[in-house]
Amino acid sequence: MDATPQAFDRVLSSMCTRPHPAAARAAQRFLADNPGDPATYPDVAALEEHVLDALGTVTGLADPAGYVAGGGTEANMQAVRAARDLTASDDPVVVAPTSVHFSFQKAADVLDVNLRLVPTDDDYRADPDAVAAAVDDDTALVVGVAGTTEFGRVDPIPELAAIAREAGTRFHVDAAWGGFHLPFTDHAWHFGHAPVDTLTIDPHKVGRAPIPAGGFLARDDATLDALAVETPYLETTSQATLAGTRSGAGVAGAAAALDAQWPDEYRENHERATANATYLAENLRDRGYDVVTPELPLVAFDLPEATFDAVRADGWRLSRTGSGEARVVCMPHVTRAMLEAFLDTLDTARVG
Ligand code: PLP
Repeated sequence: MDATPQAFDRVLSSMCTRPHPAAARAAQRFLADNPGDPATYPDVAALEEHVLDALGTVTGLADPAGYVAGGGTEANMQAVRAARDLTASDDPVVVAPTSVHFSFQKAADVLDVNLRLVPTDDDYRADPDAVAAAVDDDTALVVGVAGTTEFGRVDPIPELAAIAREAGTRFHVDAAWGGFHLPFTDHAWHFGHAPVDTLTIDPHKVGRAPIPAGGFLARDDATLDALAVETPYLETTSQATLAGTRSGAGVAGAAAALDAQWPDEYRENHERATANATYLAENLRDRGYDVVTPELPLVAFDLPEATFDAVRADGWRLSRTGSGEARVVCMPHVTRAMLEAFLDTLDTARVG
């Protein structure tokens, strides 16, 4: 079958992007290496340690435990799994805001835990009072999101961490998308800012690593020990990952992406994306659209269904939030020229 990879010049919906050229080259070299078997593939295992160290630097934790996961879904699932296995409750509950990524529904389903979703405040962030009221003796994990999928909101991480600590439960931060923007903001979001037990940060999103490269980080080794199973047929004796065989390309690509971009290129990307989000929000408002003021560079706005459909029919990849707003994610491939062309399309679609 003849197929063409997706061009990025009209993609506004995705949380993935073109990999950094150095990352793409590195990935190509490690296509056959399996970091799931580190004793057989020591070089890619060393690269994975390097990625962990680098992600620790980004997230304020020296020498983190963790690994390069398949993506944010796997990392979130592992956070829930560790919490389930470390709690004393027979009927564990995960307390999270309604803005949490749907991967937590999958985790709850697969791991047979209860997901208790708590309404967000009027500005789409977790509401600490509501979260505190939802936590009980069965709560195994409280989740905060640092960069929500639909509105790019950053939850009040220190407040949520304090609630979890007070209740004696674990605390997880999902920074899968936001993690490569937040270091260049004033937000308190990581291990260095609050008692965070586990954290998701995905190199294959804003980090510009090739897919698959998710990041699962834990403050202490006990988390990984809780996840580990014995692995008799491998050269190593235990494995804490969810997947068995994993992508050497993802690991090597993440290492190269971090080496090439941390911190200067990531900062430049953050500044460019933020300027683009502000530009888009202002230009939409000028045209009379109702816009949710961006916090991280993601712009959600009301768009009539007919216009949404016309824009999509013109080749733009645009998606909607659960409550119906159109959302534009200002990823590294999204340029000012793209946004100008998008606004032109909107204008035409509207007139038509
Ligand atoms: N967490 C957040 C905040 C996300 O935005 C996403 C995906 O967009 C995920 C988790 C899931 O990541 P993945 O699709 O890599 O599994």
